[in-house]
Amino acid sequence: MAVTFDDLPYVDIGERGLPGAQRATKKILSVLQARRVPVVAFVNEGKLQVVGEVDARIALLQQWVDAGVILGNHTFSHPDFNTLTVQQFQDEIIKGEVITRRLMQSRHPYQLYFRHPQTHTGDTQAKKEAIEGFLTARGYKVAPHTIDNTDFIFNVCYVNALHNKDEATAKRLRDAYLTFTIAATEFAERFSPEIFGAEITQTLLVHANEITADCLDEMLSRLAGRGYRFVTLDEAMSEPAYQTKDLYVGKYGPTWLWRWMESKGMNTKGMKVGGKDDPEPPEWVMNLYRQSRQ
Ligand SMILES: [Zn+2]
Repeated sequence: MAVTFDDLPYVDIGERGLPGAQRATKKILSVLQARRVPVVAFVNEGKLQVVGEVDARIALLQQWVDAGVILGNHTFSHPDFNTLTVQQFQDEIIKGEVITRRLMQSRHPYQLYFRHPQTHTGDTQAKKEAIEGFLTARGYKVAPHTIDNTDFIFNVCYVNALHNKDEATAKRLRDAYLTFTIAATEFAERFSPEIFGAEITQTLLVHANEITADCLDEMLSRLAGRGYRFVTLDEAMSEPAYQTKDLYVGKYGPTWLWRWMESKGMNTKGMKVGGKDDPEPPEWVMNLYRQSRQ
């Protein structure tokens, strides 16, 4: 399994601010280093631009680099490509690589990776192809993922529970999040042989947020318990399955398992695993999530 993190330096919701970011970064990186898990992590450089905190926020990214992580580009301000022109999105990509490229100078040469915000890769064929061509010309590969554990949903509820000092709910959320991550992993394990005839190296997408920081050690332990070892994204991308072109065009951001299935002209009919089996977070979590956003 390859592990990727999004929305660096930190998903700042609620009022946790820089101290929250520093705590989560330290926790995530100590786990990754102790378990020797190679990671590619995707930066929104716009999040560095906080008055009085620019240096401190760049220092957070430097910590990821020092821990051996490869930093990728996730655009400057995390816009939705569906609402932007190709030109506007290109500007977001260019603006989003300035500090990251400087911090990564010591690591040259390395593969540049790009991940579209919300993995919205283009809602029209023309937009998708234009950005793909632009990224290739700039040396980027688009980073896929095959497991999405929707940690951003759990995280919104979790940050609320922490804010309310409701440790019982916080613990319940951590447990549910870990259980859900394994369910999402099992789904990918059952789904990928339907497409490729055998299991493939999976790529997990998580975020640099509170709940993942607090659950990462246990999550990696459970995944290792399922027999996973952790490889670089470069290694995963060298597998034949990952050479399958992503031909999905649309406004959603499905995992690459769906995209590859579409590319191969498969539909879910006749497959043992399909959309109906895609696990959802528990209803009580979804209710908390909806309440917290009202
Ligand atoms: Zn993101």
